[in-house]
Amino acid sequence: MNAELIMLGGAEEIGANCCYLELDGTGVLIDAGLHPRDRTLRAFPDVDALGDRPTDVLVVTHAHTDHIGGVPYVMRRHPHLRPVMTHATRDLSHIVLHNGARLLRSEIATAFPKHWLEFYERETIEALRQAFEAVPYDEPLRFRGYSGRSPVDLSFHWAGHILGSASVSLSVKGFSILHTADVMMSDQFVVPKARLPRQHVDVLITEATNAATEDLPTYAAETKRLAGFINEIAGRNGSVLIPCFAMGKLQEMIVHLHSLMRRGSIPHLPIYSGGIGVRINKVYDQYCYSDPMKRPGFEVSDVPQERLRRDELVRGDFMREPSIVLAPSGMMNTGTMSHTLAREWFIRPNFGIGFIGYQDPDSPGHSLLTSETKKPFDFGSTRSRRVCEVERFRFSSHASREHLIELAQDIRPSTVVITHGDSGACESLALAIHERLPGTRIIIPRHGVSYTLLGDV
Ligand SMILES: [Zn+2]
Ligand SMILES: [Zn+2]
Repeated sequence: MNAELIMLGGAEEIGANCCYLELDGTGVLIDAGLHPRDRTLRAFPDVDALGDRPTDVLVVTHAHTDHIGGVPYVMRRHPHLRPVMTHATRDLSHIVLHNGARLLRSEIATAFPKHWLEFYERETIEALRQAFEAVPYDEPLRFRGYSGRSPVDLSFHWAGHILGSASVSLSVKGFSILHTADVMMSDQFVVPKARLPRQHVDVLITEATNAATEDLPTYAAETKRLAGFINEIAGRNGSVLIPCFAMGKLQEMIVHLHSLMRRGSIPHLPIYSGGIGVRINKVYDQYCYSDPMKRPGFEVSDVPQERLRRDELVRGDFMREPSIVLAPSGMMNTGTMSHTLAREWFIRPNFGIGFIGYQDPDSPGHSLLTSETKKPFDFGSTRSRRVCEVERFRFSSHASREHLIELAQDIRPSTVVITHGDSGACESLALAIHERLPGTRIIIPRHGVSYTLLGDV
């Protein structure tokens, strides 16, 4: 019996996340992401690093692009892979994959060999989706790879991150692994916290997005600041732009803003949203009874929303009357609605931009967030100045450092593997777990390097 791990993406970064495990002859890939920005070969999982190792099952933990966006690429390279995911992730997949394809098509022309576009043609994506197999939460699935010596049992557990998100348990011959994937261990506004099994496992593979932050502010504290910000901007007759990811973050914010209005914490302002978010809202609503929800039966689409239209961005009513505009992308990437809108906001001193999500250090959003009023800064390809207000709020949908440490303490694994975080976050979590659980083997895996989890070490 042997177990081996190789990171093909997402080692010491949030990138083209993909973790390969060989479990007694069966090859399992967990996630196949598309890098948020990198458009070199590193945009996709590095399947070449596998050599001739077995590849049998592709487990997709949720429908964020950095976990699912590389599926067409990986499946074209390994067509016999059996792709499994939760029902909701399968239903969200076509929205994300087609949107990813659209983005790639506009970016791929110079960076990639032309034939790679084939992976992302509409027909190819549709054909792949026919093969996507949905597995309910907490119902074990047993499989054995082509050269597998023993069967592998897999279970999905509710991960509390976005609709459809799952942590994954794998066990083979009594050897057990828990992969948290992107996990959130407190309630958000729409989805409740994760429900992970808290029994001993041999190997814990954990994300580390927030692990460098000692004191992540609470949702309650950030809500107070956000309400204050919106009140101030609306009081000056201005509008608030909130750049946000269409998948998960948008639904959380729509519902949160609506409840703030109902409670009288902020004035009743029109909420604008658009892009693929509207279609994602509908999938959330389809699962409002069957999947974990804080308020079962509540539908995101029931919150009154105005449609944000790409061809009306610079002359929308929100330029004239105080409004809240929720626009993708979350990091204000060039060519997206939030990027175009931001330029209109820059010249208006009574308007405000409120960031709510992670900003990659190389993104236009990060550069704006760290800019100073009236001082020049790089925004995408141009130098810009701004007079509008800019503020940052933390509504993370990833577990806090303390929650990740508690998980490790509860399940007392022999080995902890730390992924999905920058190197500072990974090292900080490694140190904290080492202090609390001395004797635990801790691995911060390097890209493409093989680690023996069990067997002839
Ligand atoms: Zn995610
Ligand atoms: Zn992620």
